[in-house]
Amino acid sequence: MLEVANLSAGYGQIEVLHGLSFQVPKGKVVTLIGSNGAGKTTTMRALSGMIQPRSGSIKLAGREISGLDSHDVARAGLAHSPEGRRVFPTLSVEDNLTLGAFPRLTGSRPKGDVAADRERAYALFPRLKERRLQLAGTLSGGEQQMLAMGRALMLRPDILLLDEPSMGLAPKLVEEVFRIIRQLKEEQVTMLLVEQFAMAALGVADYGYVLENGRIRFQGPAAQLKSDPAVRAAYLGGD
Ligand code: ATP
Repeated sequence: MLEVANLSAGYGQIEVLHGLSFQVPKGKVVTLIGSNGAGKTTTMRALSGMIQPRSGSIKLAGREISGLDSHDVARAGLAHSPEGRRVFPTLSVEDNLTLGAFPRLTGSRPKGDVAADRERAYALFPRLKERRLQLAGTLSGGEQQMLAMGRALMLRPDILLLDEPSMGLAPKLVEEVFRIIRQLKEEQVTMLLVEQFAMAALGVADYGYVLENGRIRFQGPAAQLKSDPAVRAAYLGGD
């Protein structure tokens, strides 16, 4: 489904990712773990066209998407729920959700029923339904995080990138976010997940890659990584 080969990317003079290769098979959940600054967010940004890769290939369902801008990447079927809950603060919850479907409506993907998809998002996130006319900027942090996920799902993506969906959330909401990720997994939504809670991420994922200084250091089935002493010592301590 998503095939990344020799991806390099960075900011200005600095190269952060030095030739990453990994895959996310259809219907699977893959997690990228690694310490702060390893390049997880940069990987997500490069995949979604927020920054342009320096070299390498990113194929989504066989189609090369590296070099496309973020709107065209979304039109191709990749949705990104970025770190830091980027919602449109002056628009309502409902309008934020509707805008999530926009790239799909302007591309060649099936149009589908936007209102029905909004209802699906509300079913996943009942709090959003209660607040559907509220301006997104006045939502709590946790609610904004849910809105960012709901909006990404409105694309009906071939793959959903979730960057730190639990960041800044109270423990109860962190559980809620993981419950939703599990539910999406049951619905066969293909996901690439970056999480500060590496143990929890490996608990829900099928496969994991460990990034270190912009390179993949370890990879394997999630259950195997979770029990690997070297991985635990380096990355999972304290979780
Ligand atoms: P964390 O877990 O702390 O979020 P990460 O693995 O997601 O870390 P990145 O955010 O991808 O790491 O950062 C990788 C490196 O790129 C870091 O050294 C960071 O300082 C640098 N970096 C990130 N964003 C920028 C930017 N906009 N401009 C310049 N350097 C950046």
